[in-house]
Amino acid sequence: RTVYVNGEYLPETEATVSIFDRGFLFADAVYEVTSVLDGKLIDFEGHAVRLERSLNELDMQAPCTKEELLEIHRKLVELNGIEEGLIYLQVSRGSDGDRDFVFPSEDTKPTLVLFTQNKPGLANSSAAQKGAKVISIEDIRWGRRDIKTVQLLYPSMGKMMAKAAGADDAWMIEDGYVTEGTSNNAYYVKDGVIVTRPLSNDILHGITRKAVLRLAEEAQMKIEERLFTIDEAKEADEAFTTSASAFVMPVVEVDGVALGDGTPGPIAKRLREIYLEESRAQAI
Ligand code: PLP
Repeated sequence: RTVYVNGEYLPETEATVSIFDRGFLFADAVYEVTSVLDGKLIDFEGHAVRLERSLNELDMQAPCTKEELLEIHRKLVELNGIEEGLIYLQVSRGSDGDRDFVFPSEDTKPTLVLFTQNKPGLANSSAAQKGAKVISIEDIRWGRRDIKTVQLLYPSMGKMMAKAAGADDAWMIEDGYVTEGTSNNAYYVKDGVIVTRPLSNDILHGITRKAVLRLAEEAQMKIEERLFTIDEAKEADEAFTTSASAFVMPVVEVDGVALGDGTPGPIAKRLREIYLEESRAQAI
């Protein structure tokens, strides 16, 4: 694989970052994951805008312009021959060669790293045909989940708890209400109404969420953005999650309770279809 580090395209075995990098020592870094279909980028603009917002919220310098970012994404897709897959991008605050809680001086260069993940069959995934089983766990993450930081230890542990329970993913609960999945936004459907938590600092403002809610509205589906409990989700007709890496993923079981007939629901399947269709048409 050819990867990108601070202005250079290198074989992955030759790419290095300082051990003092604040991304490594303090999780002082933000990231984006953009999907690739037909060798093209899905919603690059949305990811670039969110990256800029994450950087601003953390007073972190932008490593380069949006145009340069687009160019790097495209070049990595080309160099690695990616038809379907993902591009991971990370910007950290860099380092001034020591460990200190105080941020380094403003002229410290941020570290920019990008790499591709080849995923043939991403759009036609068997996981989406089967649907996902989720368990619920307490949400003990920090209070700025709207910033896409690399503090992913708890979500990673949540995935492991799900696996240990024979499930695929975990939905997190705070003050009795579902926040989101470990790496996706969460929805349930009851009597034709799609319910999802409204945007706030409590959840990541998903790029896929925005697109899917717009498409649902255009398709005259009913949407309620409000807090919901895991018990509501258990009594739902169907459920699903959205993320750039799995698009629209049907959820067929919540805490061991099968939803509907235990197979992907019609609204989740439809939304997945129209999301993929529109994304392919608008990919750049
Ligand atoms: N929520 C969390 C916690 C995530 O980590 C992600 C994606 O990584 C999402 C939601 C979905 O966001 P997007 O649709 O932009 O991928």
